[in-house]
Amino acid sequence: MVSVIQKKNRKFKEIDYYKNEVSNYFLLPFRFQKINFQKEILVNEVGDFLIVPIGTAEKIILKKISKIDDEELYFDLISNFFISEDPIPILLNVLEARYRTKKSFLEHFTALHIFVISLRCEHTCHYCQVSRVTENKDQFDMSLYNIDEGIKIMMQSPNPYITMEFQGGEALLAFNNIEYAVKRAKEEAILHQKNITFVICTNLAPLSDDMLPFIKEHNIMISSSLDGPAFIHNQNRHRPQRNSYELTIQGLEKCREALGEDNISALLTTTNLSLDYPGEIVDEYVQQGFRNIFLRPISPYGFATYNEKKNKYQTEKFLNFYKTAFDRIIDYNKKGYYIREDYATVILKKILTPFPVGYVDLQSPAGMINNVIVFNYDGKIYASDEARMLAEMNDFTFQLGVLGQSSYNDIFYGEKAMDIAENWTNESLAGCSECAFQAYCGADPVLNYATQGNMYGYRPTNVFCQKNMEIIRYLFNLMEDESIEKIFRSWITGHSE
Ligand code: SF4
Repeated sequence: MVSVIQKKNRKFKEIDYYKNEVSNYFLLPFRFQKINFQKEILVNEVGDFLIVPIGTAEKIILKKISKIDDEELYFDLISNFFISEDPIPILLNVLEARYRTKKSFLEHFTALHIFVISLRCEHTCHYCQVSRVTENKDQFDMSLYNIDEGIKIMMQSPNPYITMEFQGGEALLAFNNIEYAVKRAKEEAILHQKNITFVICTNLAPLSDDMLPFIKEHNIMISSSLDGPAFIHNQNRHRPQRNSYELTIQGLEKCREALGEDNISALLTTTNLSLDYPGEIVDEYVQQGFRNIFLRPISPYGFATYNEKKNKYQTEKFLNFYKTAFDRIIDYNKKGYYIREDYATVILKKILTPFPVGYVDLQSPAGMINNVIVFNYDGKIYASDEARMLAEMNDFTFQLGVLGQSSYNDIFYGEKAMDIAENWTNESLAGCSECAFQAYCGADPVLNYATQGNMYGYRPTNVFCQKNMEIIRYLFNLMEDESIEKIFRSWITGHSE
């Protein structure tokens, strides 16, 4: 009996422990995460953050933050809605309004309508599933019937601002169809009071001078591809004459001259070869006068599906590539040449501004269906471009319907869409629901399915998670340096200081 009492007594802590007053604030929802050996980050429901010494989150939760001794932190926590002196904060409606604003990219529903206008291509890029250069035009171009049916669906979008994007194969090989589609869409837009932006995604090789007047007249944006200097670009993008790079550069110059700098952009496809040349790729973009570069990861579709080891290795390699290229980009900015990295800019907008950022690949609910829909050349309708790539591998899990057969409701609110919807908010996915970076990240059921076999995914080995977690942490770390934070802010506003 005596020994039991002694044992209980030993549980008492030192007297100082009991002297420390426990504050009587209330906790509001927030998440936290270590970002380096000294610091951790606290993030509230709308993405406001505080970077604090490690151990602060624990102190907050144990109510050890004192109004007197930790005055500055205490009031930062109150004003940023991490804690409250009332069970329900008096300014709760401010938090509600900010949450609604952050999610307001959902208000108008689908904006981007991708028309795969032709599957034909005169390139034979090794990473591409769809090259069929010699194939029959009638079989692999989108029919006028499917174009009309796609426009009918597009006009039913509740969104008054829509984008019609032409993709391939190589879209310019079906330029007649593009001309037809643009004219038809414009006629319908008047009837349905829509504002349309047109985009052609092209490798620029088939661009001819007689196309430019039409492109200019209809204010069509050109989205091209530049994989880096000639030795990378030509290796990635095979043509029998090995001159893809030369044609791209010629095309870029022609477009800039005819359409203006702002109407032409280029995308980078990162391949295994690219991973060894981060500096050279950034240098090439600067040499060609670009003010932005999008360091896109290797796509796991088609070559690394269901192989966790390989996916993880590829993502690690990509992250090393990303950081080395990013350092070079920062160096250029420090030397006075403004060039921003697009993926980081999306994340930084989410971190540093209260505005909604509806970027298709990094949002919750996910961009598929909510922001983008794909009409394939053969009339099949997919939830996203990646869903179409899966279909090229004969997996039709994300096919939502068929043009001319499926109604708007079948496509956007049908059973398939509902299944995907169960997995498209990171607020409700295990791992994401308690992640400090949730407000800056997104959900990608197609990628989860392609790499892990189901739409829900498993975060500890998930490539989407691995990439975003590290990039977001990396950006926060860099932001500790004031000169870099200044550069980041210039990327968000779109002009140098
Ligand atoms: S995917 Fe990863 S980084 Fe993104 S919210 Fe989920 S757990 Fe966080």
